[in-house]
Amino acid sequence: MSVERPLRVVVIGAGIAGAAFSLRLAQRAGDRVDIVLLERSTWPRAKVCGCCLNHAAVECLDELGVGEACRDLGARVDAVRLLAPRRSAAIQKRPGLALLRADMDAMLVERARALGVRFEPQSPGVVTHAPADPRAPIEVRVRTPGGDRTIEADLVVASDGLGAASVASMPEFAETIQRGARFGVGGVLPAGTLSDTARPAPGTIHMHVGRHGYVGLVRLRDGSVNLAAALDPAWTRRHAGPVNAIAEILRSTSGGDIDLNAFTIRGTPLLTRSRPLVASRRVLLVGDSAGYVEPFTGEGMAWGLAGALRSAELVSAAALMSHRDESWADATCTAWNHWHREHITSRQRACGRLKPLLRSPAITRVCIDAMNTLPPVRSIASGIAQRLERPYFPGSALMAPAVSTGESSPRDSVAGASAKRTRNSLPVNRQVTT
Ligand SMILES: Cc1cc2nc3c(=O)[nH]c(=O)nc-3n(C[C@H](O)[C@H](O)[C@H](O)COP(=O)(O)OP(=O)(O)OC[C@H]3O[C@@H](n4cnc5c(N)ncnc54)[C@H](O)[C@@H]3O)c2cc1C
Repeated sequence: MSVERPLRVVVIGAGIAGAAFSLRLAQRAGDRVDIVLLERSTWPRAKVCGCCLNHAAVECLDELGVGEACRDLGARVDAVRLLAPRRSAAIQKRPGLALLRADMDAMLVERARALGVRFEPQSPGVVTHAPADPRAPIEVRVRTPGGDRTIEADLVVASDGLGAASVASMPEFAETIQRGARFGVGGVLPAGTLSDTARPAPGTIHMHVGRHGYVGLVRLRDGSVNLAAALDPAWTRRHAGPVNAIAEILRSTSGGDIDLNAFTIRGTPLLTRSRPLVASRRVLLVGDSAGYVEPFTGEGMAWGLAGALRSAELVSAAALMSHRDESWADATCTAWNHWHREHITSRQRACGRLKPLLRSPAITRVCIDAMNTLPPVRSIASGIAQRLERPYFPGSALMAPAVSTGESSPRDSVAGASAKRTRNSLPVNRQVTT
């Protein structure tokens, strides 16, 4: 019986979503896919991020077979402390990890490369032609230090982060940026930069909440402190830039003077944005490129990882078909639009609903006081935190890598549990027919 040639997949952006997608697809489809992973930056690259993987994100890393490697690189985190002027309260979380993004993304890319993914740093890609007919190739223009070239693909994953500039030529992906959206900034403070009072306790994320923004601090494994903030742009301008704005929020919530003079920061575009569709014409948006809300609850990486796992599963089903008729393209896009709406957009809306609470210092103060004096309120807050990090694929035990990554998944031992799969779980891969 004849077999289709390998599915040609181009992934644009090697952040957590693009790298995890590439790794997962290589694990599931082996030599039935030909994956090129393009990255704009020199590699490894720094990334503005709170660097806190919640419990659901760590479960996804376990599913990918890289959980142990991440635990080795990261520090355990199991509490978050909310700080407002003159008061604070801690909420218990399910265990997660704090892990520098440059390290984690580089590790994921290395694992994907080991399975045959072709990784090209310093190579920004743009979709220039996405025909509706699935028999015609999608064209991706790549700019490299050696000159421009065009790659042909059967399917493209745009995982190039906020704004998804790589699909700007596709009007169906036009996005809406929310009015009043904040922007992100962040960087790493070397151990010893912060005074003892300002330094977050080990294992606890410190969220300093001000009227015009918030600042998250967490200790990394080497004792340095990762700082990430979401700030109101107009207020930041009035404070002569983000470093002063961050110092002002930290001063108001922890009392002491904080010297951030030696602090090098990076910024992001405006954060809260949404799109009507996340898949069309064999182009799938995965991770922040598909839409994002402010990072207060620290879920962006879980959204990116869960989306990468699910979309890779859909694409691998197409790659493993012995005969791909034209319906695979529409079926894949429809399934991805549907799953993303059900499982990611719905959680993003839930996060969005918490936002007004955190933009009003008066309400934040009332919440903190209530948590400190009324144990049931503290339980409710913990319950909300735990609900936000509930698993994406409950009952799924099918995640043992189809192609070895050199590390066995903790779930490898759960043999034959696919019968327990629920509506949310990933589909069984079809077998390659030769
Ligand atoms: C201030 C702040 C704090 C946060 N804190 C947390 C937190 O604590 N926990 C959490 O889970 N999430 C957090 N997030 C969210 C998290 O950082 C994102 O959700 C996550 O990084 C999304 O991953 P991604 O792979 O979609 O995008 P990115 O990580 O942004 O990766 C996109 C990649 O694409 C590359 N790229 C861009 N354009 C192109 C192109 N044309 N061609 C090739 N490559 C390209 C970029 O260089 C980048 O490497 C935070 C975000 C911010 C802004």
